[in-house]
Amino acid sequence: IDFGFHHVPRDEKQTLVGQVFSSVAPSYDVMNDLMSGGMHRLWKDRLVEKLRPRPGQRHLDVAGGTGDVAFRVLAAMRAAQYGGGSSFASSSGGVGATPGAPAAAGAAGEGAGAAAAAAGAAQQEEQGQQQQDLPSITVCDINAAMLAEGRKKAEAGGIGPESMQWVEGNAEALPFPSASFDSYTIAFGIRNVTDRPAALREAHRVLRPGGRLLCLEFSKVVVPGMQQLYDLYSFNIIPQIGRVVANDAASYQYLVESIRMFPDQEAWAAMFEEAGFRGVDYENLTLGVVAIHSGFKM
Ligand code: SAM
Repeated sequence: IDFGFHHVPRDEKQTLVGQVFSSVAPSYDVMNDLMSGGMHRLWKDRLVEKLRPRPGQRHLDVAGGTGDVAFRVLAAMRAAQYGGGSSFASSSGGVGATPGAPAAAGAAGEGAGAAAAAAGAAQQEEQGQQQQDLPSITVCDINAAMLAEGRKKAEAGGIGPESMQWVEGNAEALPFPSASFDSYTIAFGIRNVTDRPAALREAHRVLRPGGRLLCLEFSKVVVPGMQQLYDLYSFNIIPQIGRVVANDAASYQYLVESIRMFPDQEAWAAMFEEAGFRGVDYENLTLGVVAIHSGFKM
């Protein structure tokens, strides 16, 4: 099945991709689970595990859609800051709290004033440090409908703009200054971008020297014989699921076709190098159904 999106002029392709994601936005999360049998959650967890985000890291998630990756990054930052078990919903009240603030009020006798002043200074310093360490995640996507779904989820989880910003923008021409991020992720997004070398150059531009790009994307199954089975599943079953659940087989057929057209692991790694990334490598997940490519700006 070939919807011929790669034969149409670039502006038209962008419009068509836009229509696809506007159409799937409300059912996007459910469909992700259904189509991948829940596997996309594990793949995204692995992406964030590789990223190992620290509080205070300026992170950009491009083609971030409904925020699936960004929420994981935020949870990981909070877990690193406040200890394990922090989820984005439950820990949202933690931002701005000052755990372990010194209790100066009860100090008595000689030196109490000095002790209180020192405690105050320590508290101020700690607050300043915490300010610096606040999670800072920017989600960028070309599609307003996807971002709106994500923002709704963030609001429901008590996540405000102080820790997550939602920005409409094109991966090929990002609306951010150069060297303004420590890390950049893109999950299941680059496949839909018309000019991929331009998107990689933009990733390189917005990262600071030493910054890391991680890309999670469908790839080529590496076990002989499995590709046919996988094709059978993707070309026959996925559009059917799309038809039944989202009443939209065509959009999902496009998604399958775009997976088929995407470069394999080695070719994609070579494109990272061409864009200027160094230390490029990749990890296959689920027999190469997806791969995580990594590269550093030197
Ligand atoms: N990263 C999210 C996830 O893994 O759940 C969303 C992935 S979704 C399959 C692909 C996203 O790429 C859509 O939200 C779409 O709007 C976005 N997209 C497509 N072309 C883009 C472009 N040129 N620049 C930025 N985002 C783009």
